[in-house]
Amino acid sequence: MDVMYSSTRNASEKYTASKAILQGLAPDGGLFVPSFIPKFDKTLDELMNLNYQDTAYEVMKLLLSDFTEEELRYCINHAYDDKFDTDVIAPLCYADGAYYLELFHGKTIAFKDMALSILPYLMTTAAKKNDLKEKIIILTATSGDTGKAALAGFADVEGTGIVVFFPKDGVSAVQKKQMVTQKGKNVKVIGIHGNFDDAQTGVKKMFGDQALRDELKKGGYVFSSANSINIGRLVPQIAYYVYAYTNLARSGKINNGDEINVVVPTGNFGNILAAYYAKNMGLPIKKLICASNDNKVLFDFFESGTYDKNREFILTTSPSMDILISSNLERLIYHIAGNDPEKNASLMKSLSSDGKYTITDDMKANLSSFESGYATEAQTASKIKSLYENTGYIIDTHTAVAGYVYDEYKKKTGDDAVTVIASTASPFKFSRSVMSAIDSKYDSQEDFALIDELSKLANVKVPGAVEEIRNAEVIHNTVCEKEDMAKEVKAFLNI
Ligand SMILES: *Cc1c(COP(=O)(O)O)cnc(C)c1O
Repeated sequence: MDVMYSSTRNASEKYTASKAILQGLAPDGGLFVPSFIPKFDKTLDELMNLNYQDTAYEVMKLLLSDFTEEELRYCINHAYDDKFDTDVIAPLCYADGAYYLELFHGKTIAFKDMALSILPYLMTTAAKKNDLKEKIIILTATSGDTGKAALAGFADVEGTGIVVFFPKDGVSAVQKKQMVTQKGKNVKVIGIHGNFDDAQTGVKKMFGDQALRDELKKGGYVFSSANSINIGRLVPQIAYYVYAYTNLARSGKINNGDEINVVVPTGNFGNILAAYYAKNMGLPIKKLICASNDNKVLFDFFESGTYDKNREFILTTSPSMDILISSNLERLIYHIAGNDPEKNASLMKSLSSDGKYTITDDMKANLSSFESGYATEAQTASKIKSLYENTGYIIDTHTAVAGYVYDEYKKKTGDDAVTVIASTASPFKFSRSVMSAIDSKYDSQEDFALIDELSKLANVKVPGAVEEIRNAEVIHNTVCEKEDMAKEVKAFLNI
């Protein structure tokens, strides 16, 4: 039986994987979910011998079931090539009691590259398979990293265009410069007066606006999404958890079958959901540890069973996790409700009307493989500093949130299972916060001077992605009100 997709809010309509990728979001505002989570059809002993690309194939073939082997291999081989600065694509680095899974060796030095290097290939392949005549317009809201990774992936890709919205004051200096210097005939980058949730809500609204869609269609366009609500992002992310596991087994750190823990610095719940899928496909994962920053809406949810977004939005030094409406959690809610779209839809309805919902005890019981924690700003900084002082290894602010949460988890539980921490960004992307965590004497330095200092301290070359923007020209300076996002899209498309 092949996996099909349907909305988390209504299961009546079934979509092939390629159609779900093209659509991005289901028409009823729900997220696409697979009809079942398939099990690996290879043993861990067999998977252990595979390189990154072949591992990705073994995962993706099970979930993207209407793609042929040739199509998938074409997408994979074009995505995971020398755009990455290491052949292993996602290396593991041991430091102070945990394995850091470095997911930032792609073009834009954040983990979003793991999925956004392949999404343009999946999407253009899906368009061909489905005889799509219209040009695909990717609408993206970003808390900083998705935007650049999506721009890099889609720039000048035939048959596509991309518009990125970012919170004008909610991203790091490097993140912003990376985006506003993006070249390409088909790209547009817009700052909004608002936070990430405003950007994400605005984009979701455009997806749901039938009149706008009709206008677009007349102009020869359709919308799609590069946000982690697209299953074309979720599915490729499962691969690196499998690869991390087989890497540990290959190097004798674990035996096949041993359970490992996974810790993920979480915002929109895409990355950790991929780990949950990996576990359900048969990867031996014991605990999925969800790490939040001061915007700890997820921690509170796991503690209490109530998701409540009615709270202050806090700008932190881990901006890619500054999120109060964690989109992909809806997929988990659907699964823990026993794949029940009605139950999920009613909870999402109360989220949109009251800003909160509470799950049942039965649903809560299905969360037993999750643990959660959060790190304050001071705790995050202390983790960066202590890890550097103990080992010389420098991590970014997001990864540090996860590192701190893991230390606390281990202290509390004594659980000493081998643990993988998803390292989601290069410290160079957040050099100001990273350097000031190490020593306040750096606070007065310019952004690029800090980057050079960081390179010296970490004994790591400044990544190409950062060198590239040092002297790059700003191309995009549009800023708009959150109410005017659709207007800006129409202006860009001349409709
Ligand atoms: C996007 C991002 C996150 C959060 O990932 P989700 O999949 O949204 O939970 C964490 N860290 C960094 C650096 C990111 O770019």
